[in-house]
Amino acid sequence: MSQFNVNEHPHKRLNILTNSWILVSPHRAKRPWLGQTSKVNAEPGPSFDKNCYLCPTNARINGEKNPNYDSIYIFNNDFPAVLESQPKNGPSDLDLLVDTSDVDPDLFQIKSVRGKCQVICYSPNHSVTMADMQQDQIETVVRAWIKIYANLSPPQSLIDSSAIGYIQIFENKGAEMGCSNPHPHGQVWALELVSQQVSREIQEFKKFEKAKCKCLLCTYLKTELSTSKTTEMHRIVYENENFVVLVPFWAVWPFETMILPKHHMSSLFDLVSTNQNQKSLVAGQTYDTIDDFLNKQPNTLVADFANSLKVLTSKYDKLFGCSFPYSMAQRDLTPEQAAQRLRDL
Ligand SMILES: [Zn+2]
Ligand SMILES: [Zn+2]
Repeated sequence: MSQFNVNEHPHKRLNILTNSWILVSPHRAKRPWLGQTSKVNAEPGPSFDKNCYLCPTNARINGEKNPNYDSIYIFNNDFPAVLESQPKNGPSDLDLLVDTSDVDPDLFQIKSVRGKCQVICYSPNHSVTMADMQQDQIETVVRAWIKIYANLSPPQSLIDSSAIGYIQIFENKGAEMGCSNPHPHGQVWALELVSQQVSREIQEFKKFEKAKCKCLLCTYLKTELSTSKTTEMHRIVYENENFVVLVPFWAVWPFETMILPKHHMSSLFDLVSTNQNQKSLVAGQTYDTIDDFLNKQPNTLVADFANSLKVLTSKYDKLFGCSFPYSMAQRDLTPEQAAQRLRDL
């Protein structure tokens, strides 16, 4: 029998962020592709859709009218996944769901979750995507993320009387991802609880730091960067002065990528400043105060982050010949093969 080959033979890889193993099946990449393909830039769509609740000047479901915005627009989600205010649940709430007269409470558990949900429209143009936007327009989106993060961070931000524990800023793009509206937009969920996945990752960071006195991802990135200099079979897709786009060694989705800063950063605040005093000024600020602060900063970190987002989303569109949905699918390539395909575009 021939020798084991990572590009040929199924194997497991450790996700160091969650300390869990994932299965890689490179042999499956050889099967024929029968899925849909489509052409990029067929026809640019309309810049305004009178039926879109995110387009400027249109009314949303609650009757509120969007302003005639010309850049980004942020509002509280009309259909929030979690609510800011609601009663705490108690043991008797289970009565509705199961007969609690003879039940092991460990088997049926409920915890109420509160939070705030916001929507960020990236552009007034209904049909653009991040890949179509100019870098300075993406920088405006990144600055909005920083502002939202600051605005929702303790000590200022509270839901009822509990502090927000975790702020998730994300985007689901494309109907394939279950996104309900093609207008370019992202979401923010600020929750009183830290999600299980993030708690696990924090735990792994702490474990690594305790054992080796180093940052887990900074150490990982250093190895990835040096590997890319010595072998063709590496996982770096793109880099600029401050950021690296790579397919993580443990990627679970095909063409899954991470954007990592070359210097240690622990939150979005670090894009504004690496100066500790300035960072503490930023936390808990209102939009207006932080806007002033952000506009005064010539910021290469924000610029390089926006540049990484633009390059990566453009590569996805080119690779699949369509406006690529950020989607989940079965993994068929090794991370090294996926990085190579994205790099070569
Ligand atoms: Zn729209
Ligand atoms: Zn680090």
